[in-house]
Amino acid sequence: MPNKNAFVYAVTGNAHIQQVNRSLRFLKQFSRQEIVVVASRSDLQIEHDQVILVDFPAELDNHQASILLETGLHRRLDLRGRTWCYLDSDIFAVHEDVQRIFELKHGVVAFAADHSRLSNFSRFAVRCACTGGCCEHLREAIESKFGIVVPDAEWQHWNGGVFVFDAASVPFLETWHEYTRAILGDPYWKTRDQGTLIATVWKFGLQDQITLPRKYNYIVDGMRGLNDDERAAANPFTFRVDESYSLSEGDPSHPFLLHFIGNAGQPGWRNWDEAEARLKASRQSSNH
Ligand SMILES: [Zn+2]
Repeated sequence: MPNKNAFVYAVTGNAHIQQVNRSLRFLKQFSRQEIVVVASRSDLQIEHDQVILVDFPAELDNHQASILLETGLHRRLDLRGRTWCYLDSDIFAVHEDVQRIFELKHGVVAFAADHSRLSNFSRFAVRCACTGGCCEHLREAIESKFGIVVPDAEWQHWNGGVFVFDAASVPFLETWHEYTRAILGDPYWKTRDQGTLIATVWKFGLQDQITLPRKYNYIVDGMRGLNDDERAAANPFTFRVDESYSLSEGDPSHPFLLHFIGNAGQPGWRNWDEAEARLKASRQSSNH
């Protein structure tokens, strides 16, 4: 009987393709599960044998196409009797236990928590005039655009980088996809899928559902805590180093999937260098 679980990436444009090739090296080392890459607008070689190519109309930019691809995967994949795990191309497997993620889907769909709270994330989802800190503008926009009230300003919203889904997830994913399509033409909304994910979760009443353990989407952000000037001047040697976890074998803080926000693949940043070293060590031990 074929294994029913599979990982899936959705990538659009060459920058994503380079990134997914990097991510595939890790996932193939730490997992034996099937992997599918759904790709659009690719000139580069995708280093994988299971690729589904998708066309998007030219009027969509790459970013718009990419979030439609991600939120519309249920329309393109065979969901019959199969559990899928979506991964952003900046997610990197660093431990064999990554495969246990398929056992963790409960409810209609399973996501992990984001690293910020809703009010803090708000100004990154909509074009309000706020320049820092928390605001209510995303909650207001969700109510006026979709008629959904999100009463909790400090709700722990979900991160779209990793999610486990199957046939039972279709109504949820279809709504997320339609909401995301609806904001693409709305200049007040930034081109992101996280604000519409919040709206979808509250529409389906899933806001109290348990999220995936953090180890399955361990967000590592080299820019966190840097101000705008520091960000502009940052290089791998000045990125913030996240010391909250260890990739030493057997360490209880060892994550299974690292989510490198914006800065994956940059030698000189200790968090990235350690991930590469972990991959190398795993390859050496599996060759013995
Ligand atoms: Zn605001």
